[in-house]
Amino acid sequence: MLNFASDFLCIFKELKKVLDFMFPQTCIICGKLSKDYICEVCEKRFNKYKENGIIDNKKMIMDKLNIHNINLKQNYYLVEGQKIYWEKMIYCFNYKSIVRKYILQYKFFGKVYLSRFFSYQILKNPKINQIFKNYDIIIPVPMDKIKKAKRGYNQAELITNIISKSGLIKSDNTILEKAKKSKTQSTLKKEERKNNVENAYVVKQTYKVKNRKIIIFDDIYTTGATVNEISKKLKIAGATEVMVLVIAKD
Ligand SMILES: [Zn+2]
Repeated sequence: MLNFASDFLCIFKELKKVLDFMFPQTCIICGKLSKDYICEVCEKRFNKYKENGIIDNKKMIMDKLNIHNINLKQNYYLVEGQKIYWEKMIYCFNYKSIVRKYILQYKFFGKVYLSRFFSYQILKNPKINQIFKNYDIIIPVPMDKIKKAKRGYNQAELITNIISKSGLIKSDNTILEKAKKSKTQSTLKKEERKNNVENAYVVKQTYKVKNRKIIIFDDIYTTGATVNEISKKLKIAGATEVMVLVIAKD
């Protein structure tokens, strides 16, 4: 039995060598031969804009008021006069240069394979890995059905599906729905963006949200109007904590 196992391993290793020779690994970004699926040169180009930024509203409010270990009864935080419904936000990159270029390619130019690259960037981040263990569900920002059918995919959903397969946290695409057709946020000014998304999202399965710690995933954070509106709906549905995770912050 042991012989059989070691023979099998040997054959497998040989087979992998042959396959690597026939189908060499190439960099997902530049297409050149690479040991990993992003080459060192491209990795360096992205690393320049790597941020690992965390914004913690709860901590900020606590520090400001110089209070600790109290339960904030309201479900929002007043930050610069605005009601913010999420506790924390984490972003992997600054939305600049090569990062911006590839997010736009991924989102608007059908380069679906980049979902693997961005998921990889998230999953290999130890800080985010730790955070995943402390939350119950990850939810992608939904698209309205017509828009999704036109694009053929929801860029946020593809990434949360890959994250879910890692086993670190489960994703659920059925909890939240885009109920109202709205204009594309990037075409609007800050105040218009807020009005545009107001009541645009509905929590379909409240029981999955109640007393849960939830992560909302989106590709880019600009004014934050969309994720704030979703956080509000999740808090009303009974979520105890909401965290926002994005690839890049503008
Ligand atoms: Zn490369």
